[in-house]
Amino acid sequence: MSTSTSQEWAVVGGGVLGLTLAWRLAQRGHAVTVFERAPQLGGLASAWQLGDVTWDRHYHVTLLSDAHTRGLLRELRLEHEMEWVITKTGFFTDGRLHSMSNNLEFLLFPPLRLVDKLRLGLTIAGAARRTDWKRLENIRVEDFLRRWSGDRTFERIWKPLLRAKLGDRYTEASAAFIWATIARMYAARRGGHKTEMFGYVPGGYARVFERFGERLADAGVDVQLNADVAAVERDGAKHVVRMADGTRHTFDKVIVTTAAPVAAKLCASLSAPERDRLAAVDYHGIVCASVLLERPLADYYVTNLTDDWVPFTGVIEMTALVDRAEFGGRSLVYLPKYTAPGDPFTKLDDAEVEDRFLGALERMYPHFHRSQVAAFRVSRVRYVFPVPTLGYSQRVPPMRTSVPGLYTVNSSQIVNGTLNVNETVLLAERAAAELFG
Ligand SMILES: Cc1cc2nc3c(=O)[nH]c(=O)nc-3n(C[C@H](O)[C@H](O)[C@H](O)COP(=O)(O)OP(=O)(O)OC[C@H]3O[C@@H](n4cnc5c(N)ncnc54)[C@H](O)[C@@H]3O)c2cc1C
Repeated sequence: MSTSTSQEWAVVGGGVLGLTLAWRLAQRGHAVTVFERAPQLGGLASAWQLGDVTWDRHYHVTLLSDAHTRGLLRELRLEHEMEWVITKTGFFTDGRLHSMSNNLEFLLFPPLRLVDKLRLGLTIAGAARRTDWKRLENIRVEDFLRRWSGDRTFERIWKPLLRAKLGDRYTEASAAFIWATIARMYAARRGGHKTEMFGYVPGGYARVFERFGERLADAGVDVQLNADVAAVERDGAKHVVRMADGTRHTFDKVIVTTAAPVAAKLCASLSAPERDRLAAVDYHGIVCASVLLERPLADYYVTNLTDDWVPFTGVIEMTALVDRAEFGGRSLVYLPKYTAPGDPFTKLDDAEVEDRFLGALERMYPHFHRSQVAAFRVSRVRYVFPVPTLGYSQRVPPMRTSVPGLYTVNSSQIVNGTLNVNETVLLAERAAAELFG
């Protein structure tokens, strides 16, 4: 219900960020319309159909320490239903699968000598205690890790892990990237928990966004799906959201939550330097396969890979976390490959991706054969997260633009964290306080 001081707001993008902002606006008495291009809510966290199963398009887990995600789920009255599990981690290296789930397994891990392991442990413990991420932002991650862990551990462990997420762009990334990754790993222990646990809402993100949509409707938010925004233009003191189908809608204020380069294209009324700054944010993409299997591959939630012949960059076995009953008793595995723009891998068609990925699984897991695959589906996203290059925080586009009432809020503004729902909700809360607090 609008109050006398309420304004008409549009939010472009119906992902976690756009929906959280829409909700906060509605709670402050504003009239809100959300425009989402896809047929469903959720963006990167949305669900899709894999054979006869509905589950997340990309693997998603909530950490015990994800206070902001859990707070949002509490508001959606879903947090109390969450299932929490202690999961195991695997490492596939030199053609063999190892468990790396506790200190003893770490000490027995064959590819490294004892001295390498000590240095690796000290690197992680040291980074977990640091708070000076701004200083680390000016040191190349490779220099930082070679210095603290040594060349051998860098080549054998860190380099494959960095390449898994950043490809060859790891050479340009700053040490703040590994700092943020380690900080997330250690957040539970810092928060007083004995160990980290991974959690999920039964029904997955399909259920979360279904509930989010209902709560927004109850709060009077107009959520429009299949609503492809072509441009946001200025009309005197107002803003016009022009749709791809030619229709136009006028608002007092607009928040664009798409990835920064997309916002650069949509926000026609921004100055050239503002659009250049948004367009210059250098995003990494992903090709991510969901595979439904008759039998599990192993019992690790994440298996890290160090052998460079494997075409994907990790194995995430969702059923090491989620009850198999969610998938009709079968196992759900994700095979992600993070990609730089122009990576030839992004040009492969789905059949070729499937053939290469299943061929690699057959080589890695002797008991696996592609006849056990019940469904295989490929997701492709051009803009996933910005590459955390040196001095990144100096180049972050601001939320407030030179055009009164037009705001750009997006993942490029997560400066000292990795991309995850917790950071995204935190960004929404920060934007709400700054822009309409
Ligand atoms: C492979 C993968 C694994 C992940 N794993 C985890 C995890 O385990 N745990 C975790 O917490 N997080 C995880 N995340 C991160 C999480 O998904 C993101 O933090 C979050 O979804 C980002 O939300 P967002 O709203 O900022 O962006 P998005 O989800 O990208 O939302 C932007 C929305 O804008 C819409 N849009 C774009 N252009 C237009 C237009 N012209 N008109 C209208 N709408 C438009 C898009 O369709 C999209 O819905 C993962 C992400 C990926 C890709």
